[in-house]
Amino acid sequence: MKKRILITGAAGFLGSHLCDRFIKEGFFVIGMDNLITGDLKNIEHLFKHPNFEFHHHDVTTFVYVPGSLDYILHFASPASPIDYLKIPIQTLKVGSLGTHNLLGLAKEKNARILIASTSEVYGDPEVHPQSEDYYGNVNTIGPRGVYDEAKRFQESITMAYHRFHGLETRIARIFNTYGPRMRLNDGRVIPAFIGQALRGEDLTVFGDGKQTRSFCFVDDQVEGLFRLLMSDYSDPVNIGNPDEITILDFAEEIINLTGINKKIIFKPLPQDDPLQRQPDISRAREILGWEPKVYRKEGMKITYNYFKGLTKEELEKSEH
Ligand code: NAD
Ligand code: UDP
Repeated sequence: MKKRILITGAAGFLGSHLCDRFIKEGFFVIGMDNLITGDLKNIEHLFKHPNFEFHHHDVTTFVYVPGSLDYILHFASPASPIDYLKIPIQTLKVGSLGTHNLLGLAKEKNARILIASTSEVYGDPEVHPQSEDYYGNVNTIGPRGVYDEAKRFQESITMAYHRFHGLETRIARIFNTYGPRMRLNDGRVIPAFIGQALRGEDLTVFGDGKQTRSFCFVDDQVEGLFRLLMSDYSDPVNIGNPDEITILDFAEEIINLTGINKKIIFKPLPQDDPLQRQPDISRAREILGWEPKVYRKEGMKITYNYFKGLTKEELEKSEH
C-alpha cells in the first residue's frame, strides 16, 4: 500500500517542493492550501499526477480528509514579515487553530505529524549561534509577535499532544530558506534584492546592514525535513545552513551575481528585526546525519536564473 501524506501550505514555496519530494518517494500526496500567500502555479505540474490531489481549504476551519493518512506536514502559514504584518490575525489563527485542527486530524488518523516551526521562536537572540535549548527573546506584543508567538504556541500544543495523547510528532525549527518558487513580492530579502536588480533599481538595505542571516538552499532544507519526519525524534531540531553573512555583504554579493550597475540605499530597520541569526545544527548532524551541501554561490545562481525566467508582467507586478 502506498503511504498517504497530507501537506498543508502545498501551493507555497516550501510546501510545493515537499509535494515534489514525496511524489518522487512514491507517496500519495494530498496538498491543501487556501492560496492566501501561495500560488497554484507552484504545483500545477502535479495536477495530472495519479498520486496527487489538491484540496482548496482554510486549515483554521475543521479539516476533513477522507481515507487513511500516514503522515501530515503542517506548512500552512504566511512566512514573510511583509505577509504576516498584512494578515496578522490569519497568521495567529493558522499557527494556533490550524495546528490544533491538524493535531486532531493526526490523532484521529493515527498519523505522524511534522510541524514547520521557525528560527523566529528565538526572537532577537541574545545567544549566538542559536541551539535548540535556547528559550528565545521574543517581544510578545511587537508587530512580529503575531508570527513568533503563533509558532511558539504551535510548538507547545504539539508537545502537549505528544505527551498527553502519545501522538508521534516532529518539530522543525526552520532557518531562512530560499530557492525557486519564492514569490518575488513577498518582501523577504532574497526575492526583494533580486527583484530590484532585475527591475534596475537600487538595492534597499534595512538599518546599517550589519544584521546577519544564514541562508539555506531549498533542496538541503527538504532533505533535512524528510530525514526528520522519518526519524524517531520528537524534540525540536534546527534545520538551516550555518553560513552566516551580514545583509550589507549579501547585497554586494547580489550586485556581483546580477552584474547590475546600481547602488545600495539604506532604509529604516523594521521593529524587532533580529540583529543576528545563525543555526547551531549539531543536533541535526547527530540525529539525522544531515548537513547542508549547497554553497550560497551555487544556490543563488539557481535562484537568480529562476527569477530571470519570469515574465515582464510578473516583474512589474512585484514592485511595491
Ligand atoms: P509561503 O507563503 O510560500 O507558503 C505558505 C503557504 O501556506 C501558502 O501557499 C499559503 O497560501 C498557505 N496558507 C496560509 N494560511 C493558510 C490557511 N489558513 N489554510 C491553508 N493554507 C494556508 O511560505 P513558505 O516560505 O513556503 O513557508 C512555509 C512554512 O515554513 C510556514 O509555516 C513558515 O512559517 C515555515 N518557515 C519557512 C521559512 C522559510 O525561510 N521559507 C523559515 C521558517 C519557517
Ligand atoms: N532586508 C533588507 N532589505 C530588504 C528586505 C529585507 O535589508 O529589502 C533585511 C531585513 O531587515 C532582515 C533581513 O534582510 O534583517 C532578512 O529579512 P527577511 O524578510 O528575508 O527575513 P527575516 O529573517 O527577517 O524573517
